[in-house]
Amino acid sequence: MQDWSLDPRIRAILSKLPLPFSLPTELRRTPSRAEGGELAGMRALLTGLGDDLDRALLSTVRQAGAEVGVAAAIPWSSLPVGVRHESWPDDTAESLIQIVRDGGETPVLLVHRLGVDSGDPARNSQTDRLFAAAQAASHLPANSRFVIVAGSDLSSDSSELLIALASGTVRTAFKEFGRIGTTAHLVRAQSADVGAVAELVAYLGGPHAAFVTGLDLRASGGQGEISSGNRTLNGKHALVTGGARGIGAAIALRLAQEGAAIWINDLSSAAAPAEAVIQAIVAAGGRAQFIGADLGTEAGITEIAASIKGSAGKLDVVVHNAGITRDKTLRKMSLQNWRQVLQIDLGALVRLQAALDPLMANNSSLIAMSSVMGIAGNFGQANYTAAKAAVLELTRQWARQGAVRGTRANAIAPGFILTEMTAQIPLFNREMAKQLTALAQPGTPDDVAELACFLASPRSRALNGAALRCDGGMALGA
Ligand code: NAP
Repeated sequence: MQDWSLDPRIRAILSKLPLPFSLPTELRRTPSRAEGGELAGMRALLTGLGDDLDRALLSTVRQAGAEVGVAAAIPWSSLPVGVRHESWPDDTAESLIQIVRDGGETPVLLVHRLGVDSGDPARNSQTDRLFAAAQAASHLPANSRFVIVAGSDLSSDSSELLIALASGTVRTAFKEFGRIGTTAHLVRAQSADVGAVAELVAYLGGPHAAFVTGLDLRASGGQGEISSGNRTLNGKHALVTGGARGIGAAIALRLAQEGAAIWINDLSSAAAPAEAVIQAIVAAGGRAQFIGADLGTEAGITEIAASIKGSAGKLDVVVHNAGITRDKTLRKMSLQNWRQVLQIDLGALVRLQAALDPLMANNSSLIAMSSVMGIAGNFGQANYTAAKAAVLELTRQWARQGAVRGTRANAIAPGFILTEMTAQIPLFNREMAKQLTALAQPGTPDDVAELACFLASPRSRALNGAALRCDGGMALGA
């Protein structure tokens, strides 16, 4: 399924016409050279402070294949081999823009570190540097990334104000840069270990996060397994509910590629599409099996837990993805419509996870599918938006409860993703949704699957209890 605005034939015709709107930029979703790492074909530029977090960032983005430079007035005394010093003598936007431009059209990951300055909160060296970095980011080529990182040393009241300034700047930056496929984020490194923060920044900086923009994340975890190699889920077992089609099917395929053995749950009536997903996984050398069970019944929940207990006996990843809509305005909604949606989109998560808890391995990862509509609300969807808002709270509760054995829980809030569910939305509404999205296009199930895969893997160990929008920067959800 592809949006018409990205069809090469339609684009070729439209590009010759005087359109009243610009066509969206085609997103760069895969690295230039897969074998060269996630950031291969990218330039990474760091306005760093020279501390441990910077060293971890440099090492991680270099390992991921980026060509790396540090923008600073004087070269760091211990710049790692292969990292270039880019002369930024005066902290002005103009000179940083020049450094950005020197790379031509090569996509850039611009990482800006916030430093400490306890002077005038509205005008000090750090607020000026923030402006310089954001303005330089506005000159980044298409499909670039701007990530502002606040280290754990920024804890004073004046530093909190600086971080708030950065947060507000990012909220505008992602909207302004979206038309050229460039994204912007803020990462607040709290008590997380520096390696975990660096892996989060590398993910946000790479092509697999192409449809993720405008995030303001607290990186507070860090304990747990350290990821290694490409297949970060080798030897792990994952359950994906609602995995026969749409987003769930894409997640099942992606987790299997990453090495996990998969259980796909869906209604028994979805056995045929589920079988097609399993065949695709097996053809790619993976392992998967189907559990046909209705999440809306106690018998269905019991069957899922019993099937898993009877085979592998443990679970490392659960993706609570299944969901339904029964749209009606509040005036027209029946109590039955309200209950139906709450039962599947919220109640099933509570009951299924309670049944699976005894099977969860140490360092396991729970992922719950919310929606941008659970953050912003939506006309005619009170039942759905209520349930999806509650999913965000449920995820935070799971995150707190799991802290003891290192089980993490995070939520994904997709925006407008092309699936059978959204294909039913009238054309006008779909076009409106695109126009309200910074990247001016819908996402694909694979975009959500990439995010789920990141959250499932130890690479995301800095995150626990977070809500990550995968929405191309929907004005509604921000
Ligand atoms: P989808 O194409 O409708 O897939 C959902 C799957 O869940 C279907 O295979 C469905 O089965 C299954 N399911 C429904 N009720 C079930 C039950 N009681 N027991 C077991 N399986 C059940 O939806 P999607 O678009 O991929 O969405 C997946 C998730 O992302 C949902 O939670 C949705 O709310 C969320 N989301 C989607 C979007 C989007 O733009 N697509 C945006 C925000 C959030 P049947 O089809 O056979 O009923």
